[in-house]
Amino acid sequence: MEKIQMPKGLTYHSDECLKHTYIKGGQEIVKPVQKIVVGGKVVCPRCHVEAQTKELQQFESERAERIEKLRRYNVLYRESLVPDKTILTATFENYTAVEREEIENKQMMLEFRDRLRKGEQLNAILQGNPGAGKSHLCYALLQDLNNYDCDVENPADKKTCLFINLEVLMRKIKSSFKNNDTQYTEDYLVELLTNVDYLVLDDLGAETGAIDTDKAASNFVQRIIYAVTNGRQDKSTFTTFNLAGDKLKETYDAKALSRLMKGRNFVVFNETSDKRFEDLPF
Ligand SMILES: [Zn+2]
Repeated sequence: MEKIQMPKGLTYHSDECLKHTYIKGGQEIVKPVQKIVVGGKVVCPRCHVEAQTKELQQFESERAERIEKLRRYNVLYRESLVPDKTILTATFENYTAVEREEIENKQMMLEFRDRLRKGEQLNAILQGNPGAGKSHLCYALLQDLNNYDCDVENPADKKTCLFINLEVLMRKIKSSFKNNDTQYTEDYLVELLTNVDYLVLDDLGAETGAIDTDKAASNFVQRIIYAVTNGRQDKSTFTTFNLAGDKLKETYDAKALSRLMKGRNFVVFNETSDKRFEDLPF
């Protein structure tokens, strides 16, 4: 038979702790607590429990802060809609700027980044040839901002970033009509796109050009753009597009467009050729 281990008896000490009180008839009354001896030390059991509880609460709140910070950090990677996976590796460092225009445009984006880091609000429009690197620079900007304030003390100060390619968004919306996929509802998208701190709207107008464009889905996207630009007037939005300006005016509400162009920060690619194909072996 095994010996049953009995809990060790408590050793009381003659001292009392006089820190604990209760209220009776509006009066604060001290309730003495008999101290005990633990491991050769004299401690008040109630103080001991309170200190442990406080330590645990501190630990839990730090844990909750870390989780919240991580959640905000992950918005870019979890919620973004990208046209192809290669863009996920885009950084300022791997944007090859050779031509004068590319060098200037990259420089302009780095200046925007510095201004955003200082807490400034600004919108910018990147316009030009398909494949000139507009999306690359925008994604690079988001990654940079997302990594920048990783160690902020207050999790609410951690900025959230989101990249939304409008053609992909359009496809998601169309398939949600067919499959009853409830994630991509209008309310969900408006809230998601409105609430992030830094938003990129990639390839505005491209979603309306597809041959199989569905009028309902196209109207849906336009309503989202309208609501989002309205809700983001104190937040920073970067928009890329290939279309000529007047084509956009035909498609989108003038108010929504003017909100996106507020500040008139234009990054224009006229000369840069399609960078996506320059490394191909022919
Ligand atoms: Zn005590």
